[in-house]
Amino acid sequence: MTLEFKNLYVSVEGNMILKGINLKVNGGETHAIMGPNGTGKSTLAQVCMGHPKYKVESGDILFDGKSIVDMSVDERARLGIFLGMQNPIEVPGVTNFDFIKAALQTRMGKDEHLRVGKFILKFESTSQELQMGKGLAHRFLNQGFSGGEKKRNEILQMKMLEPKFTFLDEIDSGLDVDALKLVGEQVTKQKSSDLGLVLITHYQRLLDYIVPDYVHIMINGNIVKTGSLELITKIDQEGYDWVKKELGIEEENKKPYSLGTCATKTMV
Ligand code: ADP
Ligand code: MG
Repeated sequence: MTLEFKNLYVSVEGNMILKGINLKVNGGETHAIMGPNGTGKSTLAQVCMGHPKYKVESGDILFDGKSIVDMSVDERARLGIFLGMQNPIEVPGVTNFDFIKAALQTRMGKDEHLRVGKFILKFESTSQELQMGKGLAHRFLNQGFSGGEKKRNEILQMKMLEPKFTFLDEIDSGLDVDALKLVGEQVTKQKSSDLGLVLITHYQRLLDYIVPDYVHIMINGNIVKTGSLELITKIDQEGYDWVKKELGIEEENKKPYSLGTCATKTMV
């Protein structure tokens, strides 16, 4: 498996958010993307999955060398791409069990059939591993789930669907210390030479449990620095100011407002 972002420019509602992303993830590798809020990390994850709001202006996303930018979300999912969302949505009326079953079924070929017994056993053992409540299967997808339960549920989906490429977007937010350790260990257990993994996070703690091979710093819609574990410690201790200073980057939202912007702000 390889997933490659090539000089990718992406806009959202007319604003260019990603400005020339280059990143290649091979099967077996774990990459961490860190960066201040609003720099485009979630945009990268969403555009990879095919969210219609995010428009590829130029560049490409290649899965095993083939462009996926014109594919629908479900086509990408069928290829084996998975996104653990920063803010998982609630879907009233669809039970968690039916949702995951349908996702698995949809991914199968026309002549293949889901073996329900095997599926139930795996669903039960995986939710147990993630220490999720027994009633979970029959509750509506994410409805009324706590922040931590929603995040565990994303990992449950990942473990059930066994994707080839996974983006986990701030999977640590909303998790207490024990849950973080558990989720971290469960994701690590899922690692294999076939899985390409990208973690978006703000904190070193998650990366103590899911150790990345590469660490990227993203600022203003671009990956401005790539390194390894030593980068995480430095970010944890010193934030991002040193990177900006080193590279002469001015954060966009800290630039002084133009007169036009000031006027709009005052009106609002
Ligand atoms: P990060 O995940 O790094 O915090 P995001 O990718 O969520 O950043 O957001 C990057 C920028 O894109 C932000 O300035 C945000 O306001 C803007 N943005 C993201 N999603 C949308 C959207 N759906 N509509 C308008 N602007 C958006
Ligand atoms: Mg985000």
